[in-house]
Amino acid sequence: MKMKIALIPGDGIGPDIVQEAVKVLDAVGAVYGHSFEYATCLAGGCAIDATGVPLPATTLETCKKSDAVLLGAVGGPKWDKLAGSMRPEKALLGLRGGLGLFCNLRPALLYKQLSAACTLREDIIGDGLDIMVVRELTGGIYFGERGRSAAGDAAYDTMAYTVEEIERIVRKGFEIARKRRKILTSVDKANILETSRLWRETVERIAPEYSDVTLNHLYVDNAAMQLVRNPHQFDVIVTENMFGDILSDEASMITGSIGMLPSASLRADNFGMYEPIHGSAPDIAGKDLANPIATILSVAMMLRYTFSLTKEADAVEAAVSSVLDEGWRTGDIMSEGMKQVGTKRMGDLIVSKVK
Ligand code: NAD
Repeated sequence: MKMKIALIPGDGIGPDIVQEAVKVLDAVGAVYGHSFEYATCLAGGCAIDATGVPLPATTLETCKKSDAVLLGAVGGPKWDKLAGSMRPEKALLGLRGGLGLFCNLRPALLYKQLSAACTLREDIIGDGLDIMVVRELTGGIYFGERGRSAAGDAAYDTMAYTVEEIERIVRKGFEIARKRRKILTSVDKANILETSRLWRETVERIAPEYSDVTLNHLYVDNAAMQLVRNPHQFDVIVTENMFGDILSDEASMITGSIGMLPSASLRADNFGMYEPIHGSAPDIAGKDLANPIATILSVAMMLRYTFSLTKEADAVEAAVSSVLDEGWRTGDIMSEGMKQVGTKRMGDLIVSKVK
């Protein structure tokens, strides 16, 4: 298979970690007979410096002509004082909107080798955690009408959803659950919100098409509590934009390893943008200290969700697990008795396992 990938290294540690992820992709290409062609583009602070805007039109064009996008991270203290529309993070919103990415996948994966980093008790974590949060990304209250009263003493935000918007994200949730442990939890607030009642009706209407998947409904407040009380009950969670924003952060933060977690934002045709959940970590940029695993696991997601290369994705994830088994750690996940390595060596170790 021949695939075109747009690379957006961005700022801070972005270039350090994207470089390692590309090494892993190339190793996958060599072992399994695929060819990956890369087009590197600017976004974020480096794009502001070079072109005056956080998301140059050429970057969006290059992404549109590619099969998938791999992004490092954007932002840093150098650009912190810029006004709203000129901030580096605007590039992310521009890319998500411009590429029509409505489905955000946020795995909360805790490797048993790193369970000491988890904030939950050992008996609650068991042999690790593996939850996938599927969040609607382009609708709901973040995009609804908002405003202030004339006197400025009142304000409102509107949550709105169409059946079409609900159906396409819920179908993604069912499809992803099908490829995993086949349990889907739909999260809403149907006891109060009309959008949630429409959400639940839509889920119920399409559920018979996925009768191999066990479906549960939870109210969002209960879901937030269950995530820390008994996280093992969850396989895939599907929910609207704001609930998903909050629950995906909660789920990923209980794993305690920010340098380990990937994410994906997808379109209906499975085109996707893949990126680690962490930021540009300016404090360790260019020092060979960053953990490249979140970005390498983002590449595994790209292989799985955009290219449907399951065997290849499994190989990358197994390579990461095997390197952890052998005790190799970057500084952020270092613990007593383990062997500390830098960004490049971690990349090389994972490449050697893929090969
Ligand atoms: P951050 O995620 O960059 O860093 C938080 C802490 O985690 C830091 O101590 C950092 O060194 C550490 N860390 C993060 N990733 C790491 C990795 N891969 N390996 C080892 N340690 C790692 O969050 P922040 O400090 O709040 O933000 C820094 C900049 O990143 C800001 O400009 C912010 O706006 C931006 N940001 C960008 C994104 C993105 O591009 N998606 C997301 C969040 C923050």
